[in-house]
Amino acid sequence: MNHTGKRFETTAIHHGYDTKEHLGSLAVPIFQTSTFTFDTAEQGEARFAGQEEGYIYSRLANPTVRALEEKIACLEEGEAALAFSSGMAAVSAVLLSLTKANDHIICSQGVYGCTFGLLQLMKEKYRIDHDFCAMESEEQIRALIRPETVCIYVETPINPTMKLIDLEMVVKVAKEHGIAVVVDNTFCSPYLQRPLSIGCDIVIHSATKYIGGHGDVIAGIAVGTKERMAEIAKTTQKDIGGVLSPFDAWLLLRGIKTLAVRMDRHCDNAEKIVEKLKKHPLVENVYYPGDPDHRDFSIYRKQMKRGGGLISFEIKGTKEDAQRFLNCLQLIHIAVSLGDTETLIQHPATMTHAVVPEEARKQMGISDSLIRLSVGLEAWEDIWSDLEQALDQCQA
Ligand SMILES: *Cc1c(COP(=O)(O)O)cnc(C)c1O
Repeated sequence: MNHTGKRFETTAIHHGYDTKEHLGSLAVPIFQTSTFTFDTAEQGEARFAGQEEGYIYSRLANPTVRALEEKIACLEEGEAALAFSSGMAAVSAVLLSLTKANDHIICSQGVYGCTFGLLQLMKEKYRIDHDFCAMESEEQIRALIRPETVCIYVETPINPTMKLIDLEMVVKVAKEHGIAVVVDNTFCSPYLQRPLSIGCDIVIHSATKYIGGHGDVIAGIAVGTKERMAEIAKTTQKDIGGVLSPFDAWLLLRGIKTLAVRMDRHCDNAEKIVEKLKKHPLVENVYYPGDPDHRDFSIYRKQMKRGGGLISFEIKGTKEDAQRFLNCLQLIHIAVSLGDTETLIQHPATMTHAVVPEEARKQMGISDSLIRLSVGLEAWEDIWSDLEQALDQCQA
């Protein structure tokens, strides 16, 4: 239950929009407009001065995008949200807002490939330093904290190794030092994990994934306090400009209505596939947070509702064997991205994490035979038969 007194499923469908304000339109209208007219010059002056509520220009705010932001903020149990043109626009706006030259970031070891790239860029161009940390204990984190540390950036589950980080533990250490905790919650969606309710400061999503859920939009979200979001809105969002279009906001609003239902089916299917993969002789390791054999199962029980739709596994053999396996699939598409209705499979070492130098990749636990599967909403039996026939062909 969130602050509206309604449950997640109900909030996802109803919150942030009143049909009575829009001629009874059941769906949120798409305000496909770049700008908004003022009745008078004085009204324009008052809006720019912030003395009068109202829309000015769609890079600053747009009613369709607003409806989306209100809904997500509520689902994440945060005060306010901002929508961006991509997950990376959200990540970069948040990180650039929190830091200045000579500041320091502590980042989970294992992070989305482009976030890794952004941290490199911030270090080289803007002298904003970072360290990676496995975050397996308070001591590991404390050892890296400096007077200049302003942010702890966490991905959990970590892409693509599915390791988990104990958010309660991170928050405890961060609070002692007044450091902001930012969590990339893409893999879980707010349905499975709500970091703000654990005390984290900002949640980021690539809404391209589960929130959109249909593989047809690139988008990002950040959620946090009103104050922090207002600061980002008037600086790194407005002035760098990676804002979401009204139509893409509408696609997300449509996707969110079924988020809870979709997530449960993604989880049901993934649980079945994990069971099967673990029994297959050609599969070496299966990484799934909801699996009682998972190394971080105790953390899973603390902070996640269910295991999600992503599974990583290693097949016996080399990079070429992994590639041959992918090539043998008939139903499952070879593609990066995740959280779609279609089951997608990819090879992190040569795809999503190809930008990460080999040394760092190995440290993150990304081997050449690691495969990441985003389990879709097809019948799980069909997903499994495709995986099984491809594995059998590899074995031959
Ligand atoms: C996809 C993804 C991103 C980047 O999001 P885009 O929408 O592609 O810009 C960031 N973090 C994670 C965990 C992702 O999966």
